[in-house]
Amino acid sequence: MDFIFPAPAPASVAIDGTTARFPVHRIYCIGRNYADHAKEMGMAVDRGTPVFFCKPADAVVDDGTTIPYPPKTADLHHEVEMVVALQSGGANLTATDALRHVFGYGVGLDLTRRDLQAAAKKAGMPWDTAKAFDRSAPVSALKPATRSGHPLRGKLTLEVNGQLRQQADISDMIFGVAQIISELSRLFTLAPGDLVFTGTPAGVAALKPGDEFHARLENIAELRGRIA
Ligand code: MN
Repeated sequence: MDFIFPAPAPASVAIDGTTARFPVHRIYCIGRNYADHAKEMGMAVDRGTPVFFCKPADAVVDDGTTIPYPPKTADLHHEVEMVVALQSGGANLTATDALRHVFGYGVGLDLTRRDLQAAAKKAGMPWDTAKAFDRSAPVSALKPATRSGHPLRGKLTLEVNGQLRQQADISDMIFGVAQIISELSRLFTLAPGDLVFTGTPAGVAALKPGDEFHARLENIAELRGRIA
């Protein structure tokens, strides 16, 4: 195909155990998926209808990266989340059929301009500038499900400068991975390369310039980085 300028290289994520990379198609995120986080945000827990939003594919950042403090915010927040990577997709997938589309799992941060999100919520405006900014999605290397299986429990933690900020078990998620994939596939046609951020537990707080973060999903993945 003839392009008027060189097409950008696809965004990608590392894979544990190989130099081959996972090309990113889209990034989907679910909000309010742990009851204790919904509560700390002053929101009711809705077990009927999940809240979804998106980030651009090129928001991904590799493990070990120094991330510049983003512009237009004075309240950059961390949200540690399990990340699910899809190797196939489709529309109207059933929850019982969903997990066979999963390539693997990782851990990531859904970085958030909390001040812009609060203003958007108050004004009934979209969340894009709060959630979908440059480098807002650091992600660990992915562990293939052929090695990790499909984890239903496991500790999810985030330390900042060696201090524990967030801690939960992924079994506490309101919507599980299979259910999230099924619900998403009724709204969007899912495809190979899609990443799904599965929501954060309580303890979200500010990251300041110079902070070092260390996220872990037990037996699956680790992610380190620094805010410049
Ligand atoms: Mn989140």
